[in-house]
Amino acid sequence: MPIQILPARLANQIAAGEVVERPASVVKELVENSLDAGADRIEVDIERGGAKLLRIRDNGTGIAKDELTLALSRHATSKVSTLEDLEQILSLGFRGEALASIGSVSRLVLTSRPAEQAEAWQAMAEGRDMAVKVQPASHPQGTTVEVSDLFFNTPARRKFLRTEKTEFAHIDEVVRRIALSRFEVSLSLKHNGKPVRQYRAAKLPSQQDKRLAAVCGPAFIGSALRLDSEHHGLRLWGWLSPADAARSQADLQYTYVNGRMMRDKLLNHAIRQAYGERLAPDTSPAFVLYLELDPGQVDVNVHPAKHEVRFHQARLVHDFIYQVLVQALEDAPAMAAVSGSA
Ligand code: ADP
Ligand code: MG
Repeated sequence: MPIQILPARLANQIAAGEVVERPASVVKELVENSLDAGADRIEVDIERGGAKLLRIRDNGTGIAKDELTLALSRHATSKVSTLEDLEQILSLGFRGEALASIGSVSRLVLTSRPAEQAEAWQAMAEGRDMAVKVQPASHPQGTTVEVSDLFFNTPARRKFLRTEKTEFAHIDEVVRRIALSRFEVSLSLKHNGKPVRQYRAAKLPSQQDKRLAAVCGPAFIGSALRLDSEHHGLRLWGWLSPADAARSQADLQYTYVNGRMMRDKLLNHAIRQAYGERLAPDTSPAFVLYLELDPGQVDVNVHPAKHEVRFHQARLVHDFIYQVLVQALEDAPAMAAVSGSA
């Protein structure tokens, strides 16, 4: 075969292989877009575990009519324009690939209205070259992305979809993770028309505790140690279970770096080491931890789905987390006694 440039849809489908693993990945990408657009209300509607429909609606800045086509093309982003931007990234997105990728493996409709635009417009990409059709629509300020029949044109992927229940459980988990990443944003999740989660905007500490309890369960928050430490421009805050309140499953382990949810090896290693021998065999700690540092100190462009990051000063970050957690765990008995006598 001679060398040739891939048709746009095929190129996007190849990219989708890395980013769109299952319906839950679509939810992650689209909700992150809503957060980047400054939305403080996001509604997630799912049908049939996401295999039939995923609809994400927000009240963010919206997309202007003449940018809808671009938004659906690959390598099109409003979030970075120079290498310097990339090295100081604060937005969750920057690759300009999600909408194009998702659109290449589903039937995607993008409807949006920015505040300054009188009418809403709607766009969808069709054909091999993903030519975009734009038409008038009705929508309040913000954006709705509707993704139907995910993987309908990539049967190999479609075959890998698990049961409706399993796929929805993955979606629910993504929504829980995001709910803990932005307390101030109201977030709702429906499945087959039925409300499943409703996280109201939580601004006061008491409301935040309520959301934490809603996500992690009242037992976690009842015993959790609260921590907040800062050192040399690094800040670690959040909640963790005392070693003797560890769980039989590693199902409550949430870490965030600059507001981005992560499953990072270095973080997990530092945490595991801090618990060390304090943990009974076959138990796992529970934690919700937020690391904040200068965005110039962390490279988020390591993994297409952005699950991992690279720290410029990995050793420093590791030791900081380790030390803060060891301190918190060592202080734990005293804390438990205080809360016990209260
Ligand atoms: P990225 O998030 O990496 O920029 P995407 O493909 O996810 O790439 O989105 C492309 C562009 O479309 C974004 O840069 C943004 O300008 C616009 N966009 C996507 N979703 C939304 C949304 N919900 N609200 C406003 N703009 C959006
Ligand atoms: Mg994005």
